[in-house]
Amino acid sequence: MINIPKGTKDALPQDSHAFLALEKKAREVARVFNLNEIRTPTFEHTELFLRGVGDTTDIVGKEMYTFLDKGERSITLKPEGTAGVARAYIENGMDRNASLPVKMYYITPVFRYERPQSGRLREHHQFGVELYGSPEPQTDAEVVQIAKTLMDTVGIEETKLFINSIGCPECRKLYNEALRNFLADNIESMCKDCKERYVKNPLRILDCKEEHCKEINKGAPKITEYLCEECKNHFEGFKKALDEVGIEYTVNPNIVRGLDYYTRSVFEFVTEADKLTVCGGGRYDNLVSMLGGKPTPAVGFGMGLERLMMIAERAGADLGKPNAPKVYIANLSDEQSTLIRKVVYELRRQGVSAECDLMQRSLKAQMKYAGRIGAEYVVVIGEEEAKTGECELKEMATGDVKKIKIEKLIDELK
Ligand code: ATP
Ligand code: MG
Repeated sequence: MINIPKGTKDALPQDSHAFLALEKKAREVARVFNLNEIRTPTFEHTELFLRGVGDTTDIVGKEMYTFLDKGERSITLKPEGTAGVARAYIENGMDRNASLPVKMYYITPVFRYERPQSGRLREHHQFGVELYGSPEPQTDAEVVQIAKTLMDTVGIEETKLFINSIGCPECRKLYNEALRNFLADNIESMCKDCKERYVKNPLRILDCKEEHCKEINKGAPKITEYLCEECKNHFEGFKKALDEVGIEYTVNPNIVRGLDYYTRSVFEFVTEADKLTVCGGGRYDNLVSMLGGKPTPAVGFGMGLERLMMIAERAGADLGKPNAPKVYIANLSDEQSTLIRKVVYELRRQGVSAECDLMQRSLKAQMKYAGRIGAEYVVVIGEEEAKTGECELKEMATGDVKKIKIEKLIDELK
């Protein structure tokens, strides 16, 4: 017996409809915000993530599924969606001015070698949004609106929006200094990762999940107090744009996000009860140029679909049902099976979902099966029906029976 790899999950046929329903809602929200889907490969050259996501991040430092392919190239399964989109954007010359802003979304599997625990998978799925070309803070707010609209559409009320600005590399230089000074006395007692971050990228320390580190971080200086004039104005503009459309938020200076490419606005939607981050995003104005494209401001988010599912279920969201046939056509004996198969094939070709026996079951067992799979109507075709061309259409919920010509079945059921 071979088991499923640690940290992965099957979506079984009786349950997968819920993911489909969420994805459908996400695509619908993308449609009204005028986004088109971008599909990029599941794997990329490892170099893309080293340069794009940054080698001081948890993702690149510890979590990537990286391997050499048979041509000795270093390949990595996507650990996030943004770097691949940026690569495609540059490679396909999407940066022509007239087509800006480019508004895209994706739904993709994401692979991270994490310690499996509640809410953490080694393969999860993300709905992500990417708006390229506009530096305006209204664009940051539009991206937040997309995430918020999706959560509203699903019926989720328990998440809170936290925002912050982590400024530009210039502001961050000053801030990193201040943070180092603040942490200097305590850094010895902090976790191994934080010690490393202290040297390479102190801002990342604020993202640490260790209790002791979190405690120390509570008194840290706030990055919002170290923003340059332009970044400060941008942050004000972001808040104003959220205020204008009535989106509530809390400024949380400890939100810094786990990826290196962020600049200025960052935000997260977090559940109140269990502090689960469902959606994280922000602005990354330097990503495209870091990857060799011409400087292009960009902003987006990634939303974890498994986490969205968890809270959608908690909220009692309507996530549909498995497919069930409109009609089950039972046979009394083998003689009618050719006729039935023809009728069922025709029904299906006309868009009516129909089912018949594939298991050589008795009539009684067929009826039981039809009930179990939730057929809306049942028809029994025996010798008599085959001869007269007339059958009885029974509605399962009410028990109502209607006499009808077999050839009229399609029109009736459509
Ligand atoms: P954390 O700080 O909790 O590790 P992150 O910063 O790594 O989160 P992002 O890279 O922003 O998370 O990913 C965006 C979203 O994808 C998260 O908000 C979450 O909903 C989801 N997500 C991230 N990692 C996982 C995982 N291992 N399993 C399931 N969902 C995940
Ligand atoms: Mg993580």
